[in-house]
Amino acid sequence: MKHNFGAGPCILPQEVFQEASQAVLNFNDTGLSILEISHRSKEFEAVMAETERLVRELLSVPTGYSILFLQGGASTQFAMVPLNLLPEGGKAAYLDTGTWASKAIKEAKKIGDVTVVASSADTNYTYIPKNYDVPTDAAYFHYTSNNTIFGTEVFETPQSSIPLVSDMSSDILSRKINVADYGLIYAGAQKNMGPAGATLVIVKDELLGKTGRTLSTIFDYQPHIAAGSMYNTPPVFSVYVSMLNLRWLKNKGGVEVIEQENIIKARTLYDEIDRNPLFKGTAVKEDRSRMNVTFVTEDKAHEAAFLDLAKERGLIGLKGHRSVGGFRASIYNALSISGVNALVDAMQEFEEKNS
Ligand SMILES: *Cc1c(COP(=O)(O)O)cnc(C)c1O
Repeated sequence: MKHNFGAGPCILPQEVFQEASQAVLNFNDTGLSILEISHRSKEFEAVMAETERLVRELLSVPTGYSILFLQGGASTQFAMVPLNLLPEGGKAAYLDTGTWASKAIKEAKKIGDVTVVASSADTNYTYIPKNYDVPTDAAYFHYTSNNTIFGTEVFETPQSSIPLVSDMSSDILSRKINVADYGLIYAGAQKNMGPAGATLVIVKDELLGKTGRTLSTIFDYQPHIAAGSMYNTPPVFSVYVSMLNLRWLKNKGGVEVIEQENIIKARTLYDEIDRNPLFKGTAVKEDRSRMNVTFVTEDKAHEAAFLDLAKERGLIGLKGHRSVGGFRASIYNALSISGVNALVDAMQEFEEKNS
């Protein structure tokens, strides 16, 4: 039995893998594989419609917002967001909380004026800046809700009189959010929603078409909205498996139910990190992510040995990102409490062996 703590592509429920593997051979009794069906077939149109419906239901997306499944990953959104929301000559505001936030800032600067309202680069992004001012004359305010690499998360939605834009790639569907607080939300599927290939975008329609820019069609949200995410060939398999995963989440009771599980999983792991004298967390306590738990050994010499023990116990993907070091346990929706308990057991076993 393996437990996959990888940051992305991520673990998905075993039954989703089962069902997806069936559909690769024979999708919905069509006698065709999901990998070969036309995206214009009525069968796939039903998949796209259900995927959208499930997102709308699970996140209570209000009317006036469109839901898209695009390609190019969250990284493409780093450019599409300013291209679609930042008027010629205007400016945008960004919060710098880590690698992905910095990349979003870098791309926006190629398109227009950017004000970075605050940054936690001074401590290698161990905390979420608070008490900053957002310029009211900016077109939008962008922040990264969960910092996948540094293990910090923004739990309180920033107050902003201008449209809020959030990269929720690694905590979408892990906890309740109020979509109406946002102008635009985006998330690469492969962290907590499905396999790599699709990117979810939820956008408030009234914000679009106001920049005065002429965009290449593929970078313009409006043609994608008009075509129901089928302006060009969508990532059929990624959308299909995302749908299966969204069904799984709905059957479990939805976002509120999974949020409670995620709180328990994160608490269980952080409690052990704080109790075990061999380990310590890297993020400040109040901003600790519930999705990506970053920690190190007190004694650097223990690092490789713990990774070896973890591997022996079937715990995969725990090596930390190179910019933080140590370990990162990604405990996304599909990682069960028994997976977290197996990691805690390994940490306790390691403590016994080394004290
Ligand atoms: C992984 C990640 C990205 C990049 O996603 P791609 O789909 O690989 O472009 C962006 N933002 C966050 C928060 C991420 O975790």
